[in-house]
Amino acid sequence: MKHHAQPQPNEADKRLIHILQFELAETNRGLIALSMELEQRVEERTAELRITQDELQRTNTDLLLLTMELEDRVDERTKELTQAITNLHQEIIEREKVEAELKTYRDHLEEIIKERTAEVESARKIAEAASQSKSSFLANMSHELRTPMNAILGFSGLMMQDDALSEKQREYLDIISRSGKHLLALINDVLDMSKIEAGQITLDKQAFDLLAMIQDITNMMRVRIVEKGLQFLMDQPVDLPRHIFGDEAKLRQILLNLLSNACKFTPRGGITLRIGILAKRECSKLLIEVEDTGIGISAENQSRIFEAFYQVGMAATERGTGLGLAISRQFVELMGGSIHVESISGQGSTFRLELPLETAEGVVTPYLYIEDSGDAILLEPGQTSKRILIVEDQRENALLLQTLMEKAGFEVRMADNGAMGVEMFQQFKPHLIWMDRRMPVMDGIEATRNIRSMEGGQEVKIVAVTASVFKEQRGELLSAGMDDIINKPFRAGELFDCMEEQLGIHFIRQVTDTPPPLAVISAEALAKLPDELQVKLWDALLDLNTARIDEIVGKINDHVPELGGILHNLAKSYQYTTMIQALEEAFALRGNP
Ligand code: ADP
Repeated sequence: MKHHAQPQPNEADKRLIHILQFELAETNRGLIALSMELEQRVEERTAELRITQDELQRTNTDLLLLTMELEDRVDERTKELTQAITNLHQEIIEREKVEAELKTYRDHLEEIIKERTAEVESARKIAEAASQSKSSFLANMSHELRTPMNAILGFSGLMMQDDALSEKQREYLDIISRSGKHLLALINDVLDMSKIEAGQITLDKQAFDLLAMIQDITNMMRVRIVEKGLQFLMDQPVDLPRHIFGDEAKLRQILLNLLSNACKFTPRGGITLRIGILAKRECSKLLIEVEDTGIGISAENQSRIFEAFYQVGMAATERGTGLGLAISRQFVELMGGSIHVESISGQGSTFRLELPLETAEGVVTPYLYIEDSGDAILLEPGQTSKRILIVEDQRENALLLQTLMEKAGFEVRMADNGAMGVEMFQQFKPHLIWMDRRMPVMDGIEATRNIRSMEGGQEVKIVAVTASVFKEQRGELLSAGMDDIINKPFRAGELFDCMEEQLGIHFIRQVTDTPPPLAVISAEALAKLPDELQVKLWDALLDLNTARIDEIVGKINDHVPELGGILHNLAKSYQYTTMIQALEEAFALRGNP
C-alpha cells in the first residue's frame, strides 16, 4: 500500500514506533504472563475451592448423619421417657389403689377389733358373773351344809355324854360323829378347791412369826402322833429366821395336811419334821420336809397323788378327802415354790417343800402367843412375891403380861404411858417394871431416865419390852438405864427366864408330857363365857362373817384376855373349824354340867 496521502515517518518516529512497538510487545507479554498467572491462580483457587467444597460436602454429610443419629437417639430417649412416665403413672395409680384397699382393710380391721373386743368383754362379763354366782353358790352351799353338819356333830357329842347309852348305840354315835367330821372336812376342801379353780385364791402375804407357827403346828400334831404310839422328831437349824413374809394360813394348812397324812399312813416308827434354809447367791429358799416310816407310795402312785380326789386304796376309817395334796400343790405353786415326794413302798415317804424365802427381820408382827401355856409356871415355895409394874399402852399386850404375872403369883399394877408409869413407881415401889418403848405422853426411855433419878430408882429392875430388834436401839435402851430387853412378840418362858435372872427368884415349871390338843383352846373356858357371847360367836362362825367373828373375839378378850388371845390367833389363821369344834364341846359341857 502506498501512503501517498500521508507523510512518510522519519527515523525518529520510526524508532519511536519501534520502541513503542517493543514496549507494546513487552507489555503484551507481561499481560499474557499476568493473565497466565492469574489463570493459574484462578485454577489453583478453584481447585482449592473444590477441595473445600468437597470437604464441606463431606462435613455436611457427616453432620447430616450425626443429626439423623441424634434425632434417632432423641426419639429413642423420648420414647423411653414417655414409657417411664407412663409406667410411673401406672404405678401411682396402682399404689393409690393399694392404699385405698389398705385403708378399707384397716377400717375393717378396726371394726373387727371393736367387734372382738366387745365379744371378749361380754364373754368376760358372762364368765365373771358365772364365777361370781358359782362362788356365792358354793359359799351358800357350804353354809347350808355346814349348819346341819354342826347340828349333827353337836348333838352326837351331846348324846355321847348320856350314861344310859348301850355299847352298840355308843358305837353308832361314834360312826355318826366320825362321818360327820369327815363330811365337814370334805366340804371345806371342796370349797378350797373350787376357789382355786375359780381363780379366787390369792396370796395374803404378811410378816409372820415362823417359829411360833411351827411351834403351834407341832403342838397340835404331837398329841395325835404320840397317841398313835409314833415318835415325833423336829429338826430345825438354830439360825432359822424368826419372822418371814408369806401367807401364814396357807403354809399352815399345807404343813398340817402333810403331817396328818404322815400320821395317817404310818402304822409304826416315827415322823420327822425338818426345816432348813437353802442359801443361793440370788435368793434363799425355805425347805420343809415331812418324813415318815409309813406304808410308802409306789412309783406309779407318786405322780398321781397330787391329782384331785386321787387316793390309794385304804381302810374306810383312814379315808380322807383326796384333796389335801392337790390343794397343797396349788398353794405351793401360788407361792412360787414346789412340792415333791420321794418314797419307797413299805419303807416310808418324804414330802419336800421348797419355797422362796423372804425374811422380815425388824418387822413387827402383832401376834402374841404363849408358847408354854399348857405348862403351869409358879414361884417356888418359900419365896416372897414381888411387885410388878407394867407400863404399856397397847391393851392386848398389857393384858397378856398382867395375866401371865398374876397367874404366876405376883402383885401387879398397870400404867398406860410413861408419865403414869413414873407416878405409879413412886406409889407402888415395884421390884420390876416391864417397860414398853413407844408410848404416848412419855416414852419408855424418858420414863426410865426419870425413875433412875428418883429415890429408890436405882434398885428397881427395868426391862424393856420392845418391838424393835435393831442393835442400835438396844444400845439406846441399855444406856437409858434398862437392865434387859425382851422382844415382842415374846414367849412366856422368856419373861420368866428374865425374871429369874433379874430378881434372883426361881420358878417351878410343870411341863406336861403331852400338851393339850389344839394348842391351848379350852372348851371349859369357852363354856364359862356369858351365854350371849357363846351364841353370837357360834352364829358368826356359821355365817363365816369374819368381821363379826373378830368383833366378838374382841369382846371375849375384854372378859377373858387369855382366851381372847387364843381365839384371836385361831381366827387370824382362819381355823374356824377348830373354833366351831371347841364351841361344840363347850355346849356339850354346859348341857351336861
Ligand atoms: P387324803 O389324805 O385326804 O386322802 P391327800 O391328797 O392328802 O388326800 O392324799 C392323797 C393320797 O396320797 C392319799 O389318799 C394316800 O393314798 C397318799 N398319801 C399321801 N400322803 C401319804 C404318806 N405320807 N404315805 C403314804 N401315802 C400317802
